[in-house]
Formats: sequence, C-alpha cells, structure tokens
Amino acid sequence: MDREELVFSWCWKRPLTGRALGEQRNIETKIKSLNGLNDGECKWLFKPSGKDVFSSKLIASIIDDLLLESNPSEPETLRNNLLPKKLGIFVWRAMKNRLPTRVELVKRGIKIESSLCPLCGSENETVEHTLLACSHASSIWEGIFKWWDANARYILEAYNIFRGSSLMESPNHSTNHSSKIWQAIEWVTGYFSWKNRNTKVFTNDNWATPKIINEIQTKSFEWITNRSNFGRIEWHQWLLHPNNLNFRDPG
Ligand SMILES: [Zn+2]
Repeated sequence: MDREELVFSWCWKRPLTGRALGEQRNIETKIKSLNGLNDGECKWLFKPSGKDVFSSKLIASIIDDLLLESNPSEPETLRNNLLPKKLGIFVWRAMKNRLPTRVELVKRGIKIESSLCPLCGSENETVEHTLLACSHASSIWEGIFKWWDANARYILEAYNIFRGSSLMESPNHSTNHSSKIWQAIEWVTGYFSWKNRNTKVFTNDNWATPKIINEIQTKSFEWITNRSNFGRIEWHQWLLHPNNLNFRDPG
C-alpha cells in the first residue's frame, strides 16, 4: 500500500471537536510522515505492553500511577510506614478533594456529559460519594468491616478520613499495632475502591465486590508484611482475625 493511501478510521464515542480534533489531525500527519509504513513490513506495538493490542486499561493504570507519584514541589502527603508512599499521597488528595471525580472535573472547567457517578448513576460523583456513599464502595466497606469485625470507632474513623475531616481526629500516631494496621486497611480500601472505579470507567469491566475485597486483603498483607517490624503474620490468621494477630519473631 502506498503510504499516501493511508486512510484512518476512528471510532469515537462522540465526534471530536476543538483541541482534540487538532490532536487527531496531528497524529494522522505524523503517522503518514513515517517511512516504510507498508502492510506486512511494519507492525505497530503498544509500547507499555509490548503487544500489538492497545489497552486503555493499562493506560488508565499508568496515568493513575503517574498522578500518584510524588512530586518534589508538592510535598503534602500522609505517611503510614506500613504502606508504599503512593497510598499516603492518594489519601491526602482524597481529603483535599483532589481526585478527578466528575464533580471535581466540572469544577475545573472540564466538559463532560454528566457529573453523575459513573458507577451507580444516581448521585453526583464527589470524592465522598465515590469512596464511601456509592453502593459500589459501600459494599466493599461492608465486607472490610465484617472481615475486621470492626467496632463503631474504627468505622467512624474510616468515614472521617474520606469525608475530609481532620486526620488529627483519628488515632494517626497510635502505637497500637491493630490501630496502625486498621489505618493501613482504611487507606488500602479507599485506594482500591478508586482504582476499580477507574477500571470500570475506562474498560467497562464488571464490578466484582468479592474480587476487590480479596485484592485489598492480598495487597495489604503483602505491603504490611514487607514493611512491619511487628514480626511475622500468618496469612490464615490475617484472613480470620486481622484485628487480633499473633506476631511471630521475624525469620
Ligand atoms: Zn455511585
């Protein structure tokens, strides 16, 4: 095929306008200017996956990770040393209303079809809605509270964090192992709730509460056992009574 004959067939959810249209024309021009773009000779690869299939899911997770990478000019973060830094940054952003929920996007002048929650469609998507009130998020919290046999104080603490209440109100500096681990679980739950919201929005994957709860249990176990100096935690104990663990000597 002569490269002059290259015809693009885009498939957008809605017609592009303005800047996006300009960007599309730009990329078409760039692709057309490449040499040797002949059938059979060249192959397009989606660099992040190394495959020839483009994945919006992978793009979403890359963008998510980029957004949560620490930025030296933006030192505000929280720290729970049982977890990777990005969890503290995530919680800080959630508390400061700086997650790109639909309501926050509209506030920042970004045109979108609707500010309703993309998961339940019944309320505006604020940070508090997406992380707590939405039926999707609350089904996860219910499972986590049940797993932890969480008392009222623990439940209230979880809600306060993602309502943006001052973290001073929660036992952030507690030396008690269970409190510290519980705080980690709250953060991990919010984090995976948001991560799965993005997966659902960008790939239209099904929302599977049990799978997400399992993801929270597995990942928090991995993070905490790699970082804590409390001693060894057994996986079966972690699943059965995470709020009352026997810590074994490390090693
Ligand atoms: Zn919702």
